[in-house]
Amino acid sequence: MYNDLRQKEKLAVIGQMAAAIAHEIKNPLSALKGFTQLQQEKDKGDDHYYPIMLNEIDRINAIVNDLLILGKPNTAIKTKKSLKDIVEYVLSVIDPHAQRKDVTINLDMKEPAVLVCDENQLKQVFINLIKNAMEAMPHGGTVTINAKQADNQVEVSVKDDGCGIEPDKLAKLGEPFYTTKNNGNGLGLMVTKKIIEEHDGRLAIESELGKGTTVTLTLPAIPNCG
Ligand code: ADP
Ligand code: MG
Repeated sequence: MYNDLRQKEKLAVIGQMAAAIAHEIKNPLSALKGFTQLQQEKDKGDDHYYPIMLNEIDRINAIVNDLLILGKPNTAIKTKKSLKDIVEYVLSVIDPHAQRKDVTINLDMKEPAVLVCDENQLKQVFINLIKNAMEAMPHGGTVTINAKQADNQVEVSVKDDGCGIEPDKLAKLGEPFYTTKNNGNGLGLMVTKKIIEEHDGRLAIESELGKGTTVTLTLPAIPNCG
């Protein structure tokens, strides 16, 4: 118990430091992106490094955003939003990457659930989960996103048919900075968990080695009146 508390305090301090640094990085980074785009326009015809540069800048930006969320107490700014709109937006961003990796993403969302949520934070959740699903299928595969609403709760699952997770590793998921990837940072699930908890939701992960993984989010939703 005592150790647990010490660990929590340590993490809070590390989180605050990380967020402070992330905050400082954000402005120069957005200037860098803007000028890279301008220069790309100027160098038309000889611009083959620019997409890579812009992609890497976007990656730094995603890490910085994760760190910002971790270091702050509840930062959610909540409004009424359609879950489907949020997921469809994320899919429009991810689709080109998915196509390149031979990943098909199916969306099965019949009823348009409405949530009181921080739209950007929930977008980040789905980006993190779909990215993990894609990274678990290096040779391609299928991601299925399914949503079911019952009364005032919606259950959204992100399922892949990728490498799966060994049972003893399953318990470690979401632990600070836990990663099994060479180029991973273990921020994705940690941030996802924090955002879902701040939305009074729950996250559950089921997985079978060699078969695939399903991450299920349960979130409060505005009751259907149909
Ligand atoms: P990162 O992706 O940077 O490693 P995450 O917090 O997103 O960090 O994930 C932590 C770990 O959880 C991953 O390294 C991986 O081992 C495991 N994991 C998460 N999602 C999946 C998935 N869909 N399939 C297999 N393993 C997963
Ligand atoms: Mg990840």
